[in-house]
This record gives sequence, structure tokens and C-alpha cells, in this order.
Amino acid sequence: MQVKTILNRLQKQPGFVYGAIRFGEEAGRLHLEIELRPRAHRRPRCSGCQRPGPGYDTLAPRRFEFVPLWGLAVFFLYARHRVQCHTCGVRVEAIPWAEGKHQLTTTYVWFLAGWARRLSWTAVAAAFDTTWDHVFRAVAMAVQWGLAHRDLTGITAIGVDELARRRGHRYVTLVYQLDPGCRRLLWIGRDRKTRTLLAFFRWLGRERTATLRFVCSDMWKPYLRVVAKKAGHAIHVLDRFHIMVHLNKAIDEVRAQEARALKAQGLAPILTRTRWLLLKRPANVTDAELPRLVDLLHYNLRAVRSYLLREEFQYFWAYVSPTWAGRFLDRWCTKVLRSRIEPMQKVARMLRAHRPLLLNWFRAKGTLSAAVVEGFNNKARVTTRTAYGFRTYRAMEIALYHTLGALPEPEAPHRFC
Ligand SMILES: [Zn+2]
Repeated sequence: MQVKTILNRLQKQPGFVYGAIRFGEEAGRLHLEIELRPRAHRRPRCSGCQRPGPGYDTLAPRRFEFVPLWGLAVFFLYARHRVQCHTCGVRVEAIPWAEGKHQLTTTYVWFLAGWARRLSWTAVAAAFDTTWDHVFRAVAMAVQWGLAHRDLTGITAIGVDELARRRGHRYVTLVYQLDPGCRRLLWIGRDRKTRTLLAFFRWLGRERTATLRFVCSDMWKPYLRVVAKKAGHAIHVLDRFHIMVHLNKAIDEVRAQEARALKAQGLAPILTRTRWLLLKRPANVTDAELPRLVDLLHYNLRAVRSYLLREEFQYFWAYVSPTWAGRFLDRWCTKVLRSRIEPMQKVARMLRAHRPLLLNWFRAKGTLSAAVVEGFNNKARVTTRTAYGFRTYRAMEIALYHTLGALPEPEAPHRFC
């Protein structure tokens, strides 16, 4: 069987035929070059309006990179015509295997983008002997296509989350769709300011905003303000994941303060290397860690008391009725406010101030899951922090849409990856 036979089976190019195929060599590495030519009597089509027109002239042959075969880079070779178009003037002809001025064939773009969902961009570039820049451009094209073709109907539940960018406390705001059948990243905006979320609602539009039933977010003031203003008709829920994050941060602060104080008094370093132990839920503590936790609980330390207060708060989520949950919340807050543990008191005051929104969790029961928000948050952090080698905001934005956006892809006769 010839390579041409395989190509005609998998990648027919309407209006064009595959010509000669030969080896090429560059810097001691073999590659394949596949010629393409137009079918006889075919009039070239204008890349501006897709209509056929009289030929104007022919440009020098160019290479378009295709999916590699058996470790060989593969290039299509074609000399494009220019068209004398009635509407657009002199334009380069349209070709079915690549778009615009791109050096990569559309098939190769989707191939690289597909791998970039499974591996870091650097790893994809290394695996297919291409550049980071090519991978970036491939993913950017895939994302652009996906965003233009995604279906935005039926959005009833959204979650607002924030993500810290590496240095200097810079943030991005991420908005997720949290409907049971469709969970994905919808929108990304710079910062976490009032105008950031206002920009989201402007993008969503009045009609789609009107169909929202649930909005869940953290207690961050600008978010609360914008949600109240723009989606006041929806049930605003303070989600469980973010509240537990606040409690964990408080425990961590208490532990760090206390560890320093104990050290200053020359006492045994009971609290060193206990950070993760105190942040863990008891069910997740391993057998090996258990004696250490039991040991720790013997001391009447503020960090330990904070830990126990958090564990007590977990019962809150088990309530069904908002009324009873409210009573529990009030009791818990009173207890914490008497505890004299300042970081915990701060959280209790915050929870008390947002009591109605907190109890909305029970009004939305069963609709929103803390695990989904947490899952997205973790995946977003992994995407931005692992070695994807982003230098720009744009690259990060594209990577997030690519991994979390559940974006559609065009139907292709054959999947190369
Ligand atoms: Zn035209």
C-alpha cells in the first residue's frame, strides 16, 4: 500500500490531489514531503469570500506541517495561486488543509491540541519535535474554534471562583457553569474586582442572566455586590468549599502563631510538621499519622481547639432544614467568639454577617456540590502552576479554556489522536 492510498482514505482534499511523495533531509533528520496540486480545470477559490475566480499568479511553493508518521515529520508542499476576485481584489486562494497564513495544517493543529489536553505544552513540543510556540498556536486555534461554536443555552447554575496568579497577588476570576448535565469553565477575567464580574454579566447578556437560578461564590465583597445587583433573582449560595478554605486558613494562622510562641518559650516543638495533619479531615488521616494526631490532641493548644471547632462546624452541612442549620450556626458562632482565638473569631464574624446567603446552601440542596467547585479549583491551579511555561496572561487564559472549558471540536472523518 502506498502512503497516497492512506492519505486518500483518511484525508481527502476536495478539489486537490496528492502528487509525488519523497524523502527530504534537514539537519540530518529525515522527513516526508507530499506534493499537492489542484484537480484539472479547477478554478481557485478566493480566501476572502470562498467564491471561485480567475487565477492571477502563482506564489512560491510552501510547506504545511501535517501529522508525523513513524517518527518522520510530514509536510504538504503546495504553490498557492492568487485569485483576481470581483469583490475582494487580488487574494491568495483558499486551501482545505490549512487556514490563513498558518504553517500548520488544520489536522495537525487538532492533533497537537488534543495532546495538549493530556500533557503539558512543553511535553507535547518535545514529543512531536516541534516548538512550544507551535503548540501554543495550535491550542489557541482550537480554543478559538471551540468558543465560537459552543452552545450557551440552558445555563441555570454558575459558580464564581478566583485564582491567584503566580506572583504579586494578582488574581483572575473564573466563572463555571455548574448545571448537573453541563459543568465547564464559561468565562475568565482579569482581577477580582467589581468591574471584573460586571464584565462577566455584560458578556452573559440580559436574557441568559434572567434564566440563572443559582449563583455560588465566596464571601468576597465585590462578588457579593455584583451578584446582588445583576442576578438578584437567583439564589445566591456561599459554597461549602470556599467556607472550609477560610476555616483552614484560620487554623493554619493559629498554628503558625502558636508554633512561633512555643519556640520562643523554648518548649518542645509539638507543632512543627503538623500543618497538613491539622488541615486534614479525620477520615483522611492515615494509620501512620494517627498516633501523632492523638498525641497532639492531648495538648490544650489553640491550634488544636481551632481544629476541633472546624470539625464541629462540619455538622452544619448535614442539616436539611435551613431553620435548624441557622440555629446551629448561631450557637457555633457564639462559641467561637468566646474562644479568644482571633483568626477563628474573624471567620465566625464573617459567617454571621452572611447568615442568609450561607443558609441558601440548604435552599439549593442537591443542586450544587462542593466537590465540583473544589474539583474545578484544583484543576485550574494545576493547569496554571505546573510546567506549562506560560509567560503571558493570554497563554494562561487559553490553557484554562482548553482544559476546563469542555469545548466542542469539529467533526472529522478520522481522528489522528
Ligand atoms: Zn473574494
